[in-house]
Amino acid sequence: MIIVMKADVGAEAPEVRQLVELAESYPGVTTELHEIAGSTRTLTELYLLGSTGVIPTEPFQEFSCVEKVVRITEKFRSIGRHGGDLEAVGFEYNGVEISQDTLHLFPGLCAVDAAANVDTMFEVLAEHGICTARAGAYKPRTSPYDFQGRGADCLPMVFELAGKHGIKIISMEVTHESHLDEIQTALIESGNATGVMVQIGTRNAQNFELLKAVGQQTELPVLFKRGMGITLEESLNACEYVASGGNRRIVFCLRGMKTNLGDPHRNFVDFAHVPAVKRLTRLPVFVDPSHSVGSRATAPDDVLDIYHVTAQGIIVGANGVLVDFHPHPENALCDGPQALHMDELAEFIGDTQIARDAYERRLQNRTGRRGA
Ligand code: PEP
Ligand code: MN
Repeated sequence: MIIVMKADVGAEAPEVRQLVELAESYPGVTTELHEIAGSTRTLTELYLLGSTGVIPTEPFQEFSCVEKVVRITEKFRSIGRHGGDLEAVGFEYNGVEISQDTLHLFPGLCAVDAAANVDTMFEVLAEHGICTARAGAYKPRTSPYDFQGRGADCLPMVFELAGKHGIKIISMEVTHESHLDEIQTALIESGNATGVMVQIGTRNAQNFELLKAVGQQTELPVLFKRGMGITLEESLNACEYVASGGNRRIVFCLRGMKTNLGDPHRNFVDFAHVPAVKRLTRLPVFVDPSHSVGSRATAPDDVLDIYHVTAQGIIVGANGVLVDFHPHPENALCDGPQALHMDELAEFIGDTQIARDAYERRLQNRTGRRGA
């Protein structure tokens, strides 16, 4: 059972303390209190765990601080919508609002290499008004002989350059929990020049110990990538590991499925799941067209497949796009063949705006449902 407080009732409010006492007076019931800082308001929720099936909702509903009492009807206890009874949870991080209503582009380097490329990347993004980027320092590679990323050594350089160009959030994959400390230490040493959204890659989607570690820290938000060879439900359950640790600033990212049914794309593009994930969970949903398509293949209409699938994600409501760019893709140490060129950024942004406008027009075109 989840008790949702009215707007701006904080976890410390005396009435909330009374609610906790009442809940815990039922045998076998424990509680967890969550304060979720959204961009427009703080949401306080009290989770009742254990044998809650027989507990009546009325005594809780009578409290003036309570907005609603929701019985948990399905899986995904923390990230789920529970039959639509819970609203989406967005968050603000380092001055950037991310929610099921917003759209942000996170273009950048698949893997950090030379400082000059990082500098150019952030500079060009800033020139185009973008303050969110991707940059991989720790790379999980299929072969142990491939470039594994520059690791902690490159973090001071990346954060300093991000600060120089006003980049507010970098999506950065971690492959081991020790990377969390490395990132946090480097951020502090940079004077918090930027922010980091910790990325869980598809290969670690069911690395439960890593998921627990990123979930138990609440300083950095988390971008969770769908597992490439498991069902959506399994991925959502895995994502629940992050939320159950206490971190509620989570983004779910679709990146395609590993199957040769997706050929000629590197992965089978699954962006039709954007609205499904928004319905099933409270999370903002991103897409990664680069790792889905995996090449610069171009359709006969002279539009790159990467652009086409990005538009497919945005036109159905995606909230963010992780996309590989590189100033010199031919020299990239990872995934160069799928990287877009810096001089394509303006065109790419324009294309995403067309798709977003179309999504917003589609919303205006709604006439209301006739019911179930
Ligand atoms: C990445 O975004 O750098 C990456 C490795 O993606 P994925 O985990 O989706 O393969
Ligand atoms: Mn990559």
